[in-house]
Amino acid sequence: MPLVGCTQKVPEPQKSCYFVQNKHEQRVSWKSNLPVKFRVHKDVPKEARESITQAAKEWNLISTKNVIQIVSWDAEGTPSKSYADRVPTIFWKKDWEVNKASEQARTIVVWSGNTLRDADIWINAKNFTFSYYGDEFGYMKVDLVSLVVHEMGHALGFAHTTSRESIMYPRLARGFDRRSVDHLKDLEAFSCEYGDSIVEPSVMLAAIEEHAETVVAAEVSVETPNEELNNPSSEEPTQEGLVESVNNASQSSQVVQ
Ligand SMILES: [Zn+2]
Repeated sequence: MPLVGCTQKVPEPQKSCYFVQNKHEQRVSWKSNLPVKFRVHKDVPKEARESITQAAKEWNLISTKNVIQIVSWDAEGTPSKSYADRVPTIFWKKDWEVNKASEQARTIVVWSGNTLRDADIWINAKNFTFSYYGDEFGYMKVDLVSLVVHEMGHALGFAHTTSRESIMYPRLARGFDRRSVDHLKDLEAFSCEYGDSIVEPSVMLAAIEEHAETVVAAEVSVETPNEELNNPSSEEPTQEGLVESVNNASQSSQVVQ
């Protein structure tokens, strides 16, 4: 009778497609477990709710299935105890580390193997004020829809990109900067990992045109405070199973001086 050796199969590496990867270089995502069902903490102000709803809609627009779902607006709990409780939650934090005051938001994702298990979004309401969906852009305010779309991208498993047009570009300026899920790389990346869920190109194009109007309108009057120019980008260390993704306040290429 032949001896049977004990073999351990090492998972095959995958190309990143702009996703966070585990130690075996496999993309980390929710796989078939979409939608990500977010609860929104009760401290999130009522006037911010529509912005969060719109951010979820943007992700749902590019897919034939539900990508992000908001399941409640009265979640309890505290951010620091919410790691890995497997309940994705959006928090409105009025306290923030003093040495990280330039972070607009933070998303903490937790995975095992190559599958995401939790994603919490913290919005920095201590150091920033926000303009909400439907508002005129506000000088010194951060566009909340753009910010939450980006953080939801992290919650889906996306890492940062270097394309300024991408929703996953790590910088969002105050005052006029708007982002939406309409960049080809975002769509390709989503499709790469979540497969056949990408919508028909005609639907996608309609969505892109709609967003383009928003961007043009937002560029009419551009002024950004000079202090924005001096905020360096910072990278948070990442570790297996837990990554903190950081969004920094800083200038964009459209700054008028
Ligand atoms: Zn980010």
